[in-house]
Amino acid sequence: MDFKDYITVVENYPKEGIRFKDITTLMQNGKVYKKAINDMTAFASNQNIDVVVGPEARGFVVGCPIAYSLGKGFVPVRKKGKLPRETVDVEYGLEYGKDSLSIHKDAILPGQNVLITDDLLATGGTVNATVKLVEDLGGKVAGLAFMIELKYLNGRKNLDQYNIYSLVEFD
Ligand code: IMP
Repeated sequence: MDFKDYITVVENYPKEGIRFKDITTLMQNGKVYKKAINDMTAFASNQNIDVVVGPEARGFVVGCPIAYSLGKGFVPVRKKGKLPRETVDVEYGLEYGKDSLSIHKDAILPGQNVLITDDLLATGGTVNATVKLVEDLGGKVAGLAFMIELKYLNGRKNLDQYNIYSLVEFD
């Protein structure tokens, strides 16, 4: 099965010149979604994971079923102001401006092995911010798992020390 056949490339979305990779067409197909999650879970099974972390919203779409399959917990990373209890926060740069992400302060115990998941690795801004949150809480990043990696954006450049898995690569 070629997962790429189920990912739709949408031209000029959300703005001119961007070729958006839409995973909703993959998720709509139960067999393909299951196989994608199973393959990502197989990677995670070798990393001695204690907990799975994913940034909203598509990080939940991959992270929650992986956590469920592993029988481990899932911790959401959300835009600032969305989590109800005490958080740690990180600001990170976007192409234009800044954004911030938050995690509950008690969500990860020092020394826990963490798998970070998201649908897509582009420039790496989102995952680097998520790594920082996990490490600020004393977690150890045991692996990073993505459905899609956009190789041409070289999001791996600041992630040399981590074990990275991607299901599908776009050149
Ligand atoms: P990065 O922070 O530049 O690595 O961008 C990755 C984040 O942006 C992820 O959380 C993705 O959900 C989102 N993203 C960026 N480009 C795309 C795309 O083409 N399709 C789906 N999500 C995208």
